[in-house]
Amino acid sequence: MAAKQLKCRECATEYPLEARYVCSRCFGPLEVGYDHLERFPDVGEVRRRIQGGPQNMWRYHDFLPLEGPQPRTRTGLPAGCTPLIRADRLAQRLGLREVWVKNDAHNPTHSFKDRVVSVAATRARELGFDTLACASTGNLANSVAAHGAALGMASYVLIPADLEEQKILATGVYGTNLVKVRGTYDDVNRLCTELSGDRDNWAFVNINMRPYYAEGSKTVAYEIAEQLGWELPDRCVVPIASGSLFTKIGKGFEEFIDVGLLDGEVPTMNGAQATGCSPVATAFEAGQDVCRPVKPSTIAKSLAIGNPADGPYALELARATGGSIDAVTDDEIRAGIRLLAETAGVFTETAGGVTAATLVKLAERGDIGADERVVLVITGDGLKTLDAVRGSFEAHEVEPTIDSFKVAFAQSVTA
Ligand SMILES: [Zn+2]
Repeated sequence: MAAKQLKCRECATEYPLEARYVCSRCFGPLEVGYDHLERFPDVGEVRRRIQGGPQNMWRYHDFLPLEGPQPRTRTGLPAGCTPLIRADRLAQRLGLREVWVKNDAHNPTHSFKDRVVSVAATRARELGFDTLACASTGNLANSVAAHGAALGMASYVLIPADLEEQKILATGVYGTNLVKVRGTYDDVNRLCTELSGDRDNWAFVNINMRPYYAEGSKTVAYEIAEQLGWELPDRCVVPIASGSLFTKIGKGFEEFIDVGLLDGEVPTMNGAQATGCSPVATAFEAGQDVCRPVKPSTIAKSLAIGNPADGPYALELARATGGSIDAVTDDEIRAGIRLLAETAGVFTETAGGVTAATLVKLAERGDIGADERVVLVITGDGLKTLDAVRGSFEAHEVEPTIDSFKVAFAQSVTA
């Protein structure tokens, strides 16, 4: 399989594989098209080739929009091959049979964004750009700054000025040009779109490189299937910001099914949003095909995109697979973070709290069948949003003596 062209999702007009993201005929979004999606004659051979590849997402090189032979590493900052953890205690707590946690906090900058940036940055290099840039709600900022450093490319990272301090610190440290914009993410994104118009050597990973960038998210689905022994899960719960990760996970499963690497159907896809920024969940509930933009107000800042570019496609995928798109409150998000930490030993950021809380909601509503295998996609690390857990537990302060310890634990110490 090789990338063949960029193709408009709306009118199917084709364009060459360059830095271009919007259809000049109908203003629809462009997507990478591949030259063959027929079944592989020898699936076993393809599986062996993938398994013999590097221990990172470049093992799926054949399914990504890049030139040249499969490399051992492309960017010097290899993403992917993150753990898929069976979470029996979480399943038990919710009365479910089988729950797995795909923990993408295990990427180089601790979020799934390293997957999309790796593809966009590598493609940017191939196309001759010398500067990386992005509009970010935080995780993308970390990743673009780190990839710029690893590749020796200049970088400009634009963020909303009120972003969590942890994410700002974890971006600036890489020596990027960090720009705090007084406005929402949607303001930042609009500014970047304007800037990209007159800077020919700048690759905005999520604007003019967006078709390539988005393809990186497919590798989450590839890995889940490979880690389940080339089987499909029945259901995936995935957070929604722009809706790109959600739809590309669906596409990843679909491609592996189309080429014969997997048997079955695309899993039921459940999207997760915060009520403080839930344009896609609101449209789903109302039975609408498009999302009405909102002004975000939620602790889940990495999901705070009020005008989600892929919202309509996310709605389409949720409906086509019998899934849903739900929204949870900030208190439910905090509880979701604690639930995942206490039952699975996984500390996630607020976006992961949204995902975990949505799983709780689906379980309580009885949406999940008795024999289902469910995968929870955790996109980022809890250390990035420490404020969300501050004050949520008590520490015992004692004198350095056994007596003091015994007093503090009078109820439970019997010796
Ligand atoms: Zn078009």
